Amino acid sequence: MQSLQPQWKRYQELRPDELASCLQTAPVAFWPLGLIEHHGWHLPVGYDGLKAERICIRIAEETGGVILPTMWWGANGGHGDFLWTHYQSEEATTSILVNTTEQLIRFGFRVIVLLAGHYPWQGLLEKQLPTLQAKHPEVLLLWGTEMSICGEAVKLNGDHAAREETSYGLCLFPELIDMNALRPGRDASAWPQGDAPPTEKQHPGVCFDPNEPLFGQMGADSRTASAARGEEGITRLVNHLATTIHGYLERE
Ligand SMILES: [Zn+2]
Repeated sequence: MQSLQPQWKRYQELRPDELASCLQTAPVAFWPLGLIEHHGWHLPVGYDGLKAERICIRIAEETGGVILPTMWWGANGGHGDFLWTHYQSEEATTSILVNTTEQLIRFGFRVIVLLAGHYPWQGLLEKQLPTLQAKHPEVLLLWGTEMSICGEAVKLNGDHAAREETSYGLCLFPELIDMNALRPGRDASAWPQGDAPPTEKQHPGVCFDPNEPLFGQMGADSRTASAARGEEGITRLVNHLATTIHGYLERE
């Protein structure tokens, strides 16, 4: 007998009747929270959102549900001076976060997963999500980064574009990564308009020298990253969240 694979779909591609039938089979909405930010010479600038989306897809392959368009516009971080980094105001991102979550609840989703690939999302989520959960006890809101979303059960390591994030990337989207780009030789043109930021603004722990292969990174040497290292953690995270979601839906 053929086993029935859970179906997941992209929210924006569905018609109203299809969305209604999704709510019948798997009323689960995944919302990857990312942003556009310099992630070293070797990773794409959308790294955080891509990481969150690919993990959401891995969970949805087990549970079914819909994946929302990735939230690309986030706030806060230590890379505001870097080229290709877009930080928005907290007010703007908070407004979209809260409104959209409330709407998803109103439309009938029973489980909403807000997975943040960019760690400063954690502070915004901590400010808003406990209130939303208390207001809507009938819905399960799972929220946080890969370090926090499972509580104490599974806590992955995090960094910025260094060994951990590079390992997750090599596991989730190797086609977008170029490890050969980790080489010296760049100059001040790596900064917006060719101007390096003043030293007092530099973020502690982040490499600010474009001539360094590890420019923009914070954490252990990304050249020691591997897909296997990433896969080990991602598998534990995905299994835990899929089990949590299944358990909640079966209880209903
Ligand atoms: Zn990141």
